[in-house]
Amino acid sequence: MGVQESYPIDVEAIRADFPILDRQVGGNVESPGESDDDDQPLYYLDNAATSQTPEPVIETISDYYRNYNANVHRGIHQLSQEASVAYEEAHDTVADFIGADGREEIVFTKNTTESENLVAYAWGLAELGPGDSVVLSEMEHHASLVTWQQIAKRTGAEVRYIRITDDGYLDMDHAAELIDDSTKMVSVVHISNTMGAVNPVSDLADMAHDHDALMFVDGAQSAPTHPVDVQDIDADFFAFSGHKMCGPTGIGVLYGKEHLLESMQPYLYGGEMIRSVTYEDATWEDLPWKFEAGTPSISQGIALAAAIEYLEDIGMASIRDHEELLAEYAYDRLSEFDDVTIYGPPGDDRGGLVAFNVDGVHAHDLSSICNDHGVAIRAGDHCTQPLHDKLGVPASARGSFYIYNTREEIDALVDAVADARDLFA
Ligand code: PLP
Repeated sequence: MGVQESYPIDVEAIRADFPILDRQVGGNVESPGESDDDDQPLYYLDNAATSQTPEPVIETISDYYRNYNANVHRGIHQLSQEASVAYEEAHDTVADFIGADGREEIVFTKNTTESENLVAYAWGLAELGPGDSVVLSEMEHHASLVTWQQIAKRTGAEVRYIRITDDGYLDMDHAAELIDDSTKMVSVVHISNTMGAVNPVSDLADMAHDHDALMFVDGAQSAPTHPVDVQDIDADFFAFSGHKMCGPTGIGVLYGKEHLLESMQPYLYGGEMIRSVTYEDATWEDLPWKFEAGTPSISQGIALAAAIEYLEDIGMASIRDHEELLAEYAYDRLSEFDDVTIYGPPGDDRGGLVAFNVDGVHAHDLSSICNDHGVAIRAGDHCTQPLHDKLGVPASARGSFYIYNTREEIDALVDAVADARDLFA
């Protein structure tokens, strides 16, 4: 059976675009990137943490440094103008990708975490106070949970958490109880990086807006894997990271409705974000530059646009179908073991990841045995520690899938899990 067998996307052609997938691995981490003779193939199933990078994106970065590396916005010289045009147009590409009205609504940040902090500091510190509430869910990533928790402490606002049902969904009745006239912000993860649940963020946005609250959607796992339209969702803010969607590290996105970004004070101050400065005061640049202080991540922004073009060529709806197919396959295969617990909704109703535990085997041991098989998965709390506390486990193992993954790679994971069971039984 070739890798081509019945996938919604051309996995074989896609795999050929990712040089790292030819890597062999075997435990020698002293010389990064090198392989030994007795190494074995890499099965990369840690995509929810960071995805791999295709040739066109690597080539975009290389082309930038070879041919037009220069600072943006301030230069009259040709290289600076070329870099500025490419960097600014990258904002347009991102805007089109998520259905925003234009580049004014797209702020480049370092990652999802910085996008969350930007809103929490720039909007939250100014707008929240005693008597106000911020509604999160029990499945939030620390990027959102810790950030709003700290801003709430500083402003006297209350943080409320929407419960999770026993089958791993958000309890929408509880959401309706929690979101009330005291609520100023609802911030919920679109696809949980632990449960795999795809949350009804558009319904939550309606609930928030019914109470004049704002809706922040953490799209770190959804933007890479699903078609997203921020206007369909009616999100006020939407955040994601380039490194989870074939782009480089060091680049993230904050989408914000223009009138909201317009009304907010900057989060970082310095060069590039000002219009004029005196010894007494300063005025701010137009959007989105008002929120992009200092020299930005230029090559990373341009390469993010290349990554988006790469994903769009494949088709976001087909990528979602591929993710769902692999998630269901992994869920079904792991369910063959009666001592495996999988967290979150059923296999046929989840995003492309599966977090699980094997009775009597610590997730770190499991991950280490997987590594011996060349299978790269994640073990830990996946930055959802309170959720793991609630699940009653300190950690879980997580396989997460992307456009280049195959059923055979999931079989390799299942073989490694079988080995771990034998070893620890
Ligand atoms: N939110 C979710 C749901 C995530 O999965 C992650 C990363 O794993 C983040 C936020 C934080 O992303 P970053 O580390 O790129 O800021």
